[in-house]
Order: sequence, then C-alpha cells, then structure tokens
Amino acid sequence: MPKRRINCPQCGHEILYDTVADVPTFPFCSDRCRLVDLDKWFEEEYRVSQDIKDDAAGERDVPGAP
Ligand SMILES: [Zn+2]
Repeated sequence: MPKRRINCPQCGHEILYDTVADVPTFPFCSDRCRLVDLDKWFEEEYRVSQDIKDDAAGERDVPGAP
C-alpha cells in the first residue's frame, strides 16, 4: 500500500506514514512542533480568560461604536 502523506501544520515538513499509529506526534512531525502548537493554544486560552475577567470587573475600555 502506498504511504499516506501530510504536511506538519506547524513547520510544513512532509510526513509519510501508513497509519496514524506510525506517527506518535500526529499530525505533527515531531514533539517540538506539537509543543509549539500546544503553547499557542495555552496562550490563546490565557488571553481569553483575562479578557473575560476584565469584562466582569467592568474596567475594560470599550471602543465607541462608529
Ligand atoms: Zn513540524
């Protein structure tokens, strides 16, 4: 069977595989790329919860509507 191929969403490196089980870091090419992506998610989540907190405190500057 021909191997499947995907590109790592983080660095674009091509990954050849038979089954997803062959790639422990799927869909990333390596642990490093997987962690970079996870970091991005955590940062995003952190920012979002900060925004929510600010909203609740009513201290956030809301730009005037046009
Ligand atoms: Zn990668």
